[in-house]
Amino acid sequence: MNTIAYTFEGNLYLNITNRCMMACPYCIKHKWKNMFSGNDLKLTKEPSVKEIISSIGDPKKYKEVVFCGYGDCLIRPDVVKEVAKWLKDQNVKVRINTAGLANYYHGRNVLRDLEGLVDVISISLNGSSSIEHTYMNKPMFKEKSFDEILNFVLEAKKYIPEVVVTAVKFPDFDISKVEEISKKLGVKFKARPYLNENEK
Ligand code: SF4
Repeated sequence: MNTIAYTFEGNLYLNITNRCMMACPYCIKHKWKNMFSGNDLKLTKEPSVKEIISSIGDPKKYKEVVFCGYGDCLIRPDVVKEVAKWLKDQNVKVRINTAGLANYYHGRNVLRDLEGLVDVISISLNGSSSIEHTYMNKPMFKEKSFDEILNFVLEAKKYIPEVVVTAVKFPDFDISKVEEISKKLGVKFKARPYLNENEK
């Protein structure tokens, strides 16, 4: 069982914080009590750069290394930057999964620091309007969050080669509207499966 670095479908995932700018009621950390794929992702303390690197081992064994977690890794952008630099020095593909609120949260453009260190950024957008997004995800900046995420997507295009907007195929959620938004923003779109209890 691993907590900081765990494998899934040939990738290595890094869990560097449990803090998040959202409080999504559907977050699987509640539903599955912090477990994912046999790993307990509840951090008793946030790992240092040294602890993260030591948990990774040899990163070249994986298709890609993904900053993911049960939280938003960009709550710790300086740690992401240092670990990503260590990974890129070894030519490893690096992806970030984020809720897209880091620039607003930190009051600075954290994406600038990631230029050349991150290959792909996946930004989740569950909601096609400010009202729907706030209702579904309970972001800490409430209705302001939606526009901030759209700005974050546009800003990410300047610094990261591949920007992907993702949304979960929730029942009764019109995901096609998010796909439309992605097209207008000029980025890729990826629909993620809605995971049920028996799929963990
Ligand atoms: S953004 Fe992700 S980690 Fe954060 S609360 Fe929502 S589902 Fe959980």
